[in-house]
Amino acid sequence: MNESQRSRRQFLKAVGASSLIAGVAGAGASLGAEGNEKLAIDGGRPVRKTLLGYQAYGPQFYNEVERREILEVLDSKKPFRWWKSGSKVLEFEEAYAAHIGVKYAIGVTSGTTALSAALAALEIGPGDEVILPAWTWYADYDTIVLAGALPVFAEVDSSLNIDPADIESRITPRTKAIIAVSLQGCPADMDPILEIARRHKLRVLEDFSQCVGGRYRGKYLGSMADIGISSFQESKTITAGEGGAVVTNDPILFERAVRAHDVGVIRSPYHENLGGGQIPAFAASNYRMNEFTGAILKAQEQDIETICAALRKNARKVREGIADLPGLKMRKTPDLDGDLGVTIFLDHPTQENRDRFLRAMRAEGISASPPGGSVILPIDGRIENKVTVHPDWPSFNTPQGKAIRYGRDCCPQTIDVQERLGGVIMDPNFTEEDLNDIVKAIRKVYLAMYVA
Ligand SMILES: *Cc1c(COP(=O)(O)O)cnc(C)c1O
Repeated sequence: MNESQRSRRQFLKAVGASSLIAGVAGAGASLGAEGNEKLAIDGGRPVRKTLLGYQAYGPQFYNEVERREILEVLDSKKPFRWWKSGSKVLEFEEAYAAHIGVKYAIGVTSGTTALSAALAALEIGPGDEVILPAWTWYADYDTIVLAGALPVFAEVDSSLNIDPADIESRITPRTKAIIAVSLQGCPADMDPILEIARRHKLRVLEDFSQCVGGRYRGKYLGSMADIGISSFQESKTITAGEGGAVVTNDPILFERAVRAHDVGVIRSPYHENLGGGQIPAFAASNYRMNEFTGAILKAQEQDIETICAALRKNARKVREGIADLPGLKMRKTPDLDGDLGVTIFLDHPTQENRDRFLRAMRAEGISASPPGGSVILPIDGRIENKVTVHPDWPSFNTPQGKAIRYGRDCCPQTIDVQERLGGVIMDPNFTEEDLNDIVKAIRKVYLAMYVA
């Protein structure tokens, strides 16, 4: 028995006989010949000669607008956002807030510092617990710890986002907030998350770093919770290499985030916006955005819809091209129209199948990968061992902090889902030919492995 046949056996067992018979019987006539093609991984002819892969999205859209904006800063010899009237950072903030549909946006140096400012705005500190998904970027965990609070992981489901059904059992009297992260282009399931938060009087922080431009039931990510953050690092929808933003509709949270990003002070025009401010200053860091970053982001902001529309169109085309595959299971999404379509991920029966599928796809000339851009945090060594810069760090010095156990046992569902999913990461500039090749390769490998 070769590798393909072995995978097929496992698959048949996993999907169960009934769905299989229904699927294959219906599809048999049209799919029969197609499924007999010899895979490139078994010595057959590949779909493509050169490997097709995606590139960072934002920089592909750099053009005269970015050039003009950044040269204006250079020529002005005023790279600091303050000490002058008007600023590129301010213009970016206003455009970004209007785009997402929130009252306020603050440009900062990164997504990580945006998280720190947002947690400060929510007054998260020692003794507080914050719930976050077990599969996300380090920054969500680290900024909770740096605030002195205790990170509590919840499982992700087959959307790769936090599983609303696993949140409630993680809530304790010390829980103060939930971080709802929208990962790899897929919006978090905001309605149930917001409903749980309301019922338990918790705050919600939206981290839509990996889904800038994404929507959920008609609303932009970042506009639904108490406060939101995004990153503009190179792997995100739009980018200046680094950068981040805090967004909110709440003037008090806005004021606190402003103070948190600028050593406790509020300067003009924030000062006028806030009527001079309502809360006293507090100890804080400097996360201010500079004018070069502001210039690039002001220009990139105008590309958000172009990039997202292209991604969505491309993803739809591939999804339609493979929709008839019998037994096909895709990564779940709570809103197909709001989803950015970053991933065409299949939900495979086992990790062995997934890995074999990815290898076979690459042999066909289509770059394919497991979920990326995040980490199963509870099994990361320094997290499992609660390593901090000082042994008395407040996060792990409370009775709860001492008692909490990370590691595999706190997130079996996350590990399982993360091992099963995988496929193609999309690019907004894929051509019709590229998309046809992706469809061809997925069909070829899927049929050979699972159906033929
Ligand atoms: C990228 C990212 C961050 C951190 O952003 P940086 O700009 O790299 O600091 C935070 N959360 C998520 C989900 C991210 O993907």
